[in-house]
Amino acid sequence: MIGRDILKELEDIVGAENLLTSRASLLCYSYDAAGQSYIPEAVALPANPDEVSRIVRLANKFKFPIVPRGAGSGFSGGSVPLKNGVVIHLSRLNKILEIDTENLIAVVEPCVVTGIFQDAVEKLGLFYPPDPASLKFSTMGGNASTGAGGPRAVKYGVTRDYILGMEVVTPTGEIIRTGGKTVKRATGYDLTRLMIGSEGTLGIITKLIIRLIPLPEAKKTMTAIFGSAEDAARSVSDIIKSRIVPTTLELLDKNSLACVKGNLGIDLPEGTGAMLLIEIDGDPLILDKQTKRIREVCIVNNSMEFRVAANKEEADALWKARRGASPSMLKFWPGKISEDIVVPRSRIPEMIRRLDAIAERHSLTIASFGHAGDGNLHVNIKVDKKSEEEMKRAEEAIKEIFRATVELEGAISGEHGIGISKAPYLRMQLSDAEIEVMKGIKKALDPNNILNPGKIFG
Ligand SMILES: Cc1cc2nc3c(=O)[nH]c(=O)nc-3n(C[C@H](O)[C@H](O)[C@H](O)COP(=O)(O)OP(=O)(O)OC[C@H]3O[C@@H](n4cnc5c(N)ncnc54)[C@H](O)[C@@H]3O)c2cc1C
Repeated sequence: MIGRDILKELEDIVGAENLLTSRASLLCYSYDAAGQSYIPEAVALPANPDEVSRIVRLANKFKFPIVPRGAGSGFSGGSVPLKNGVVIHLSRLNKILEIDTENLIAVVEPCVVTGIFQDAVEKLGLFYPPDPASLKFSTMGGNASTGAGGPRAVKYGVTRDYILGMEVVTPTGEIIRTGGKTVKRATGYDLTRLMIGSEGTLGIITKLIIRLIPLPEAKKTMTAIFGSAEDAARSVSDIIKSRIVPTTLELLDKNSLACVKGNLGIDLPEGTGAMLLIEIDGDPLILDKQTKRIREVCIVNNSMEFRVAANKEEADALWKARRGASPSMLKFWPGKISEDIVVPRSRIPEMIRRLDAIAERHSLTIASFGHAGDGNLHVNIKVDKKSEEEMKRAEEAIKEIFRATVELEGAISGEHGIGISKAPYLRMQLSDAEIEVMKGIKKALDPNNILNPGKIFG
C-alpha cells in the first residue's frame, strides 16, 4: 500500500504534474489489449533515466511494485499492474536522438512510436523492418520488451535482430549500458538479448541503439485465393522450398475471411477457403521472375485466383483483408480468445489439420490468421464469455492447441509474450529446470521482486 509519504517522495522526483493519482487516470493505466484490469496506486511519468532510477530505488526501499509501460497495446497483460503499485509510463522519453547514416544505426528513447521511427529512417533511404500490426501506436521499448514481430519477419527477422544495445535501469536502480554502437562485440554476457522479451521484469529500458539496413529498391504485393487452408499452407512451404524468401507471407483462413467480408465487404470468389498475402522486395528485375515462380507454386497447389498489384493503391487494396482481420473479428466475436502459436513453417499444414480437429472435437469455431511464412498463427476462438460451459470447452481446446504446438516443436507464444495470460501454461513449454534458471536470473537482478511481479511465472 502506497501511503502519502511515498506519494510525496514520488512527487518530489517527477513533479506534481507528472504523478497521476486520480481514479480516472488510474483506470486508464489498468489494462492493456488483453482486457484484464488491475488498478495501480499511482502513475509516474519520469523525464529521464535518472528519475526512473530514483523511483526504482524508492520502490526497493519501501518494497512496492513497479510496472513499466509503453503504449499498453500488449496482448498478454504485461503492462497491467497485477499487484498494484506504481506504473512507470515512459511517455516523456519519446525522442529519436540520432540517425547515423554512415554507420547505419539510430538511437531512440523507449516511447518513440515504431511507425514514426520507421517513417523517419525511410526518409533517409534507410529501413527498420520490424512491423508489428500495432506499429502506429506501439513503442520501440514495448516492442523490445516483448520481442515483437510482424509480417516482415519471414525475411528480415524480429525486433531482437535489430537491437545492438540499450540503456537500462536495473530493478535495483543502477543505470547500465548493454551492447553498443558496433555490430559485433564479445565482451561478456549478452545483456541486450537478455533484456529483449523480458516483458519489463528484468529492467526498464531508457534508450535503444538500433541497427538499420538500406531501404529495398522496390516491392511487389500479390494475393492468392485457395479452396482450403491446407492448400494455402502447402503453398507457404513450397514457396520457401523454391528458394524464395518473401518479405511477407500471411495467411487468412475461411472463418477469418468471413469476418473481414462481413465487416469490410471485400470481394471473394465463391468457395474461398483461405487467402495468402505475399510481398517480395529487392531488385525490380528479380521481382518479376520471383512473382512468376510464386504464381506457379500457388497454381500447382490449386489456387483459384492470383492477383498482383500494379501500383501502391492496388497493393493497399490487397492488404485490406489482412489489416482488417483483427478488428473485424473483434467486431463479430467480441469475447474471442486469441492465442499466438508458432511452429516450424513446414508443420503449418499439420497444425491447421490439428486445429480443425480440435474445433470439431469441442464444438467450437476457430479462426486462424497471421504470419504463416514464419510459422506464427494467431488462433482465435469464438466464445460467449457468459457461458461457463462454453468457456470450459474453450479452455480444454487451448490446452490441446498448446500441446499440439509443443509436439510439433513450436512455441506457445511467437510474439505476444507470456505476461499474465499465458503464465498458467508456461510449464507445457518449459521444464522445471529451465524455469528455475529463469527464476534464478530474475532473483539475481531483482532480489526484492520489485519489477513487474507476478508476470511470466505466475
Ligand atoms: C491491433 C494490435 C495488433 C498487434 N499486432 C502485433 C504484431 O503484429 N506483432 C506483435 O509482436 N505484437 C502485436 N501486438 C501486440 C503489441 O502491440 C506488442 O506486444 C507491442 O510490442 C507492445 O508495445 P507497447 O508499447 O504497447 O508495450 P506495452 O503493452 O505497454 O508493454 C508490453 C510489455 O513491455 C514492458 N515494457 C514496455 N515498455 C518498457 C520499457 N521501456 N522497459 C521495460 N519494459 C517495458 C511492459 O511492462 C510489458 O510487459 C498487437 C496489438 C494490437 C492491439
